[in-house]
Amino acid sequence: MNHETAVSSAKEIADRVLAPAARQNDKEGRFSSEAIKALGPAGLLSIMLPADVGGAALGPRTFAAIVSALAEADASVAMVYLMHVCAAATIAAARKGATVAPTLKEIAAGRHLSTLAFSEAGSRSHFWAPVSRARRNAAGVHITAKKSFVTSAGQASSYVVSALAPQGTAPTDSTLYLIASGARGLSVAGAWDGLGLRANASAPMTLDDCEVSYESQLTDDGAGFQAMLQVVLPLFNLGSAAVALGICRAAVAGTATHLKSARFEHLGQSLGESLPTLRAQIATMQIDTDGLAARIDDLIDHLERPRDTTVLRVLESKAAAGDTAIAVTSAAMRICGGAAFAKHMAVERLFRDAHAGAVMAPTGDVLREFIGKAVLGMPLF
Ligand SMILES: Cc1cc2nc3c(=O)[nH]c(=O)nc-3n(C[C@H](O)[C@H](O)[C@H](O)COP(=O)(O)OP(=O)(O)OC[C@H]3O[C@@H](n4cnc5c(N)ncnc54)[C@H](O)[C@@H]3O)c2cc1C
Repeated sequence: MNHETAVSSAKEIADRVLAPAARQNDKEGRFSSEAIKALGPAGLLSIMLPADVGGAALGPRTFAAIVSALAEADASVAMVYLMHVCAAATIAAARKGATVAPTLKEIAAGRHLSTLAFSEAGSRSHFWAPVSRARRNAAGVHITAKKSFVTSAGQASSYVVSALAPQGTAPTDSTLYLIASGARGLSVAGAWDGLGLRANASAPMTLDDCEVSYESQLTDDGAGFQAMLQVVLPLFNLGSAAVALGICRAAVAGTATHLKSARFEHLGQSLGESLPTLRAQIATMQIDTDGLAARIDDLIDHLERPRDTTVLRVLESKAAAGDTAIAVTSAAMRICGGAAFAKHMAVERLFRDAHAGAVMAPTGDVLREFIGKAVLGMPLF
């Protein structure tokens, strides 16, 4: 598989599986297991895993293109996929001594969906500071934790879970663990009924004295924070920006279709032909969408050839993308008028989905706090 074949496979699945079901899955808050069943055999669940474990060993450019293609059809599925790729990368980067080969093999075979369970009820969006603490025993650790939101909760085959290290002293002295879906003490702790991304099962989960073997410890004690920053954050921020791009592209396309097809019969013109103000507004949507695409390309270039400004670009991209998605879909709502408000078209789903990016951690506000500190030469934590 190469970049072109991977992206065209994602587009084919988006058109055939995601697009026809997106509206109903959103309405019912239904997780699309059909999407995962299609992405797995196509080899897309192991897109960034190394070749020696059966992955396609492709880079951030391919990952971002796949995510935005999926998001154009259904942002819920794109978010599920993004969380999985971040979890798979964390599993692949596990410390020596962790037993991850069977899991990686299952991912490469397209049979295993994973996800991240970082956010906790106690530290809320400050995912880098879990309040749960692992307790050591002879075989490994026990973890009791309240995870506030877990994408693919109850649907994933495994969860990459954070907890404070048994002997950790600082709030960021966390460790990451791999926990299988059937583990005793691990359960979904409520329903997911979000404003947007309604089909991605982002329910709370509880770990009740969950036993984790030493072999399932993904990082050294206290090294979870570094893995979050070095492995997860760049991919997650890039992927979030790509979700936003897919949403924006779908909003532009949906709005254009409406402006061409909805008519003022008494004037003998379509909305688009009749009203220059609507043409000006869709032009702004197009400018913002292409600007976001250029920003994502720039971030990919910084990830492919890391340099001094890479961290800043990682932080900026998610903050900017969240705002752009909200602005573009808000414009679409206004341009498409009562038809959008009355849910006659997909634009209102895009508007709701667009609002998730800014509140998902690191939130747009937290990113601004980090960027401001970075610009002033202050430590981020
Ligand atoms: C659809 C969805 C899917 C999710 N999936 C996952 C998942 O798979 N795994 C996971 O671990 N988590 C997941 N999350 C959780 C997410 O990452 C955040 O932790 C969660 O959205 C934070 O919500 P909160 O109410 O706890 O925010 P709060 O922490 O209560 O924040 C409230 C407000 O304060 C602002 N704020 C907080 N700290 C600062 C600061 N230092 N400076 C300035 N402003 C600040 C925030 O930006 C926000 O506006 C998901 C969330 C959503 C909505």
